[in-house]
Amino acid sequence: MSSSNTCPACQSSFRKLCGQKNNLNIYICSNCKSLYTPIGEVTHLFAYDEYYTEDNELTDSYVPEFINEVMADIIAVFAPYRRNNRLLDVGAGSGNLLAVATQAGWQAEGVEVSPHSVDFLKKNNFKIFHGDLHSASFPNDNFDVVTCSEVIEHVPEPLALATEMHRILRPGGLLWATTPHGAGISRLLLGTEWTNVAPPEHLCLFSTKGMENLLKKAGFNQITIEVRGFNPFEIFHNLRNWLIPGKKERLTGGERVEKGYQLNAALTSSPLRKTVKNSLNEALNITKMGDSMKIWAVK
Ligand SMILES: [Zn+2]
Repeated sequence: MSSSNTCPACQSSFRKLCGQKNNLNIYICSNCKSLYTPIGEVTHLFAYDEYYTEDNELTDSYVPEFINEVMADIIAVFAPYRRNNRLLDVGAGSGNLLAVATQAGWQAEGVEVSPHSVDFLKKNNFKIFHGDLHSASFPNDNFDVVTCSEVIEHVPEPLALATEMHRILRPGGLLWATTPHGAGISRLLLGTEWTNVAPPEHLCLFSTKGMENLLKKAGFNQITIEVRGFNPFEIFHNLRNWLIPGKKERLTGGERVEKGYQLNAALTSSPLRKTVKNSLNEALNITKMGDSMKIWAVK
C-alpha cells in the first residue's frame, strides 16, 4: 500500500471502512483511531477559491464579542514565548487572531490560500502571503509563535505542514493549533453524520494519539493536547431527525458554526452558565470526549 493510502496521522495501513460521504470512503485507523479519507482516493481537492464567499462571508462589523474575548485569552498564553516578537498565523481566514495579536504588540503576519480572504486582509492592512505555507519560504528559526487554527484537517499532507511549522519556529518557540477531534462525543454519537466528517474539505479528523504521533515525527517535544467542547445543537438536531421518520435535513457548515456561536454566547452570558460550561468542558477533557482539540507544542 502506498503512503498516499495510509493514515495521515500515524502512517499505519491497518484500517476499517466506516462509511462514505460525498462519494469518498471514510476509514478509521486501527492503530490511532483517527478518521480519514486517503489522499490517494481523492480525485478533486476542495476548492479554496470558493472559501469565504456568500455563506461564509467576511465583514468588518460582525465578530461576536465572545470570540474577541476567547482570542485575547489565547494570545495571553503566548507571552512567555516572546523573544523576537514575530508571530505567524497559518490560515489567517478573517484575521481575528492577527487583529488581537497585533493589539497585544506582536509583529503578526499570516499565510492564507483563499484569494477572497487575502484581499480582505490586505484591505485591512495585515501583512499576508497568498498561498500555502511551503510557498512562503520563511527562513529557519524565524518565529516565536506559529498558530494554525482549523487548518490541519484540510491539508493533504499534514506531516509536511507540521514539519514546515517546526522548521520556521525558533528553538523553544511555540506551535498553537486547533482541529476537530476525530474520537470525541459527536463523532461517536453521530458517526459519519457529524458535519465535521466532510471529505474532501476535511481529510483527517485526528485522535489525540494520532496528533501526538504526527507532532513527534515533525520534531516537536513538550506536547500538550486538550479535547474540550461540544455542540449539543448538532447532536439534538440529528436526534430529532432520527426520531421524525422521513425528515432528513442536515446542517450546513455555516449553520453549524452559527449555532455553535449562539450556544457559546448563551453559555458564557452569566457566571452560573459559565460554571456549567467549564464543568462540562472539564468532564469532556478528563474523559477525552470533547469535540475540539487544542494543541501546544514546543520546538
Ligand atoms: Zn493512524
